[in-house]
Amino acid sequence: MKLCVQCARITSHEPGCAADPSPESDHAALDPRARHERVLAGMQRVRDLVAAGRARLPGTPREALEHVWLAQDALARYPASDLQSFDAKRDLNTLQKEVAALRADACAALPDGGGERIAADLDLARKALELQAEIYRRRREAATFDLTALGKLPHARVNYARSEAHVLDDVCLEVESRLAESSALQREVETWGNANLGALVRGEAPPHVPVAKVPAGSRASLAFGAGTAMIALGVALDVLKAIPPAPAAVFAALGVVTLLAGLVFLVLRNRRYAMLPAEFQGLGIAYRERLYLSAALRFLRRRTSLRERAEDAFRQFTSGESAARWKRLRNEERDAVRFFFDWEDKRTLEDALNRAATAAVTRKAKLVTFDAVKPDEWDALAKALALDLATAESAADEAQRFDVLLALIAGGDGDAKVVGALK
Ligand SMILES: [Zn+2]
Repeated sequence: MKLCVQCARITSHEPGCAADPSPESDHAALDPRARHERVLAGMQRVRDLVAAGRARLPGTPREALEHVWLAQDALARYPASDLQSFDAKRDLNTLQKEVAALRADACAALPDGGGERIAADLDLARKALELQAEIYRRRREAATFDLTALGKLPHARVNYARSEAHVLDDVCLEVESRLAESSALQREVETWGNANLGALVRGEAPPHVPVAKVPAGSRASLAFGAGTAMIALGVALDVLKAIPPAPAAVFAALGVVTLLAGLVFLVLRNRRYAMLPAEFQGLGIAYRERLYLSAALRFLRRRTSLRERAEDAFRQFTSGESAARWKRLRNEERDAVRFFFDWEDKRTLEDALNRAATAAVTRKAKLVTFDAVKPDEWDALAKALALDLATAESAADEAQRFDVLLALIAGGDGDAKVVGALK
């Protein structure tokens, strides 16, 4: 079986791969009977491979050996422990011996030691191709990632239109700077207390206004008290004829002015109080946007790290002892590589893999838009983040609960697997 450029695997597909014509059910989830049947079906495929290999033995022992390689690869995926009957186990044992016999015959038909080398080359070519194809697959996934949702935020503007190369890395940096700009929001939200967090992100009115948020009425009270006292004093002085009427009237007039000032303070305080719900609403929108960007950043970072890991794994492989052999297989003796992936001679293998991935990786992953996130989902995201921030002991476990919820902002069928794994 050829290389699948969509999932970067040879002889099997990644679970959920769209290119898989007959997806096998999740092995671990099967009941014993279904596991038994699965191995029986696999054994039949191996029998077919052995028969086809035997037929090629007289003229093309190399092809016979390639069939052996495929048969051994298949046998490794069908454990005898899944078989329910002794007869079936005995049949599997017989089949293994047949594969081994065909291998010995094919090796014998090839000039000195050639058979062993072909088998080893196939192993190496498989591993190298899978590692390299994974790079082009992940690059392609990153390049096609639909980021338009980042342009539909209420306030923040994220420039997501970039050239293809490393597009996600650039966008991550940009999202990081938007988050840095809004870092004061986190503290502002904390001043409203945990009891209001749910209402805040759901866009509801605050259930409890914290004491610190209630505008102080002390200035108004003070002015009322002072004004009343001054009027009373003015009236008293006038009644007692303690001072001439004119100064007493001044006292009373000052008292009235002070009272009026108290009234103004009261109106201002009430106006400030009346503005609290609107402030709360505005803060809610801004904070939801921050939550959205935090989730988007962590989600996109995961995607970029898939690409980085693929590049690292291939780099490690090609800098090790296999490097020289791989160079020989991809440049000079291409049979082993071509057995899994065929390409035009005028192109380099890298170019061919890149083109194949570009043509095959078409499912676009994306972020759901800000407006599509439901109130319950905002609530869950906000509480997970608050709990993570409160309990984090190190940067590594900072976002454990939050990460579980990243599926909420993952859209597009290209991410069905990621979403499934997170839920
Ligand atoms: Zn596949």
